[in-house]
Amino acid sequence: SEDILRVNGLSTRFFTEQGQVNAVSDLDLRIERGEVFGIVGESGSGKSVTARSVIDLIESPGEITDGEIWFNDGDLAEAVVDDHPEAVDGSFVNLLAVPERVRRSLRGSSFSMIFQDPESSFNPSLTVGEQIAEAVEVQRRASANPRSTRAKTQEYSLGSLVLSSVFPSKKYVSEASRERAIELLELVGIPDPVERVDEYPHEYSGGMLQRAMIAQALAGEPDVLVADEPTTALDVTIQAQVLDLLDELQEETGMTILLITHNLGVVARMCDRVGVMYAGEIVERGTLEDVFDDHVHPYTAGLLGSIPDLEGAGGRLEPIPGNVPSLLDHEMGDRCYFADRCPKAMEDCLSHPPEYDGTGSEEHEVRCVLATQEYTEARALPADHFGTDD
Ligand code: SF4
Ligand code: MG
Repeated sequence: SEDILRVNGLSTRFFTEQGQVNAVSDLDLRIERGEVFGIVGESGSGKSVTARSVIDLIESPGEITDGEIWFNDGDLAEAVVDDHPEAVDGSFVNLLAVPERVRRSLRGSSFSMIFQDPESSFNPSLTVGEQIAEAVEVQRRASANPRSTRAKTQEYSLGSLVLSSVFPSKKYVSEASRERAIELLELVGIPDPVERVDEYPHEYSGGMLQRAMIAQALAGEPDVLVADEPTTALDVTIQAQVLDLLDELQEETGMTILLITHNLGVVARMCDRVGVMYAGEIVERGTLEDVFDDHVHPYTAGLLGSIPDLEGAGGRLEPIPGNVPSLLDHEMGDRCYFADRCPKAMEDCLSHPPEYDGTGSEEHEVRCVLATQEYTEARALPADHFGTDD
């Protein structure tokens, strides 16, 4: 399948009073159209920042300081190539090389995001239906006049809370948008959507509100849905239902999903390919089989060793003694950042940053000295090659 996103050398930093936090460093990522790509890691590993960087949701004091984010969209490429030829390569557009206005115009229609906490995406004083219909309206206006993206941009930029400050009390929602909101609620499995469209967020259960947030995110028929810990706050049964829903929606719409989670059970259930993140880097990536069955990186092994519950109980992983290192004033690239916790660390690991290395399997890449050729060969030797102690 063709790539929809190619991220090269992405670095995102936060300039705080305490110092510079290098949340994401020199990260490469490739996502295929129509796949579910998982980014898994402990909290503090940089996975949410990566997702937010890709869809331009980094706000001050955060900043993308380096890298390229190539998005495959022929129409967009055609629209920007005259003004920004350097930002276009075939049907790909480097989103970091076009004006912010262009990036923002993609929000909702090309990229959409759902979060762990649906309450924060809904204004409690407006009905669920009004808020979904607003998202529909914003997309309609934008697509009616694709070159004039400003109105859409400003209104959509901070989600529905801003939308509702634009329309403080009265809703200017057309009947068509309301109908579409009902369809979207139905699509995500809200019972009696014709009734429930007029209810307020507090009248929805947590699982229903999660579905409603997904409906809102689908209003612009996004190409890429970014789901950041979408089920972490839900109980196990509801979690399974929401994952099933995402799975069905992905199949029906063909959209691409970038799924951020700390839960390997969720990855196993949902994803086609996965990247394991540690200290702002992807340390191992590949197909599910590569990462679950043939992993090389000791961090991946640690995560898998501590997998809490394959059905996804939502418990925090406690994989390996120690914590993700603080990324404050953390200089990337002088050593392996897992060395302090790694049971296999050797001297090399402290003096050389490991590069990505293939393991022989096409998609499988690992950032660890153990992936280098000599170790790959050593691993390929029969288990008794080194003899046994007894
Ligand atoms: Fe462990 Fe060394 Fe691999 Fe880092 S490079 S994960 S310290 S073996
Ligand atoms: Mg997070």
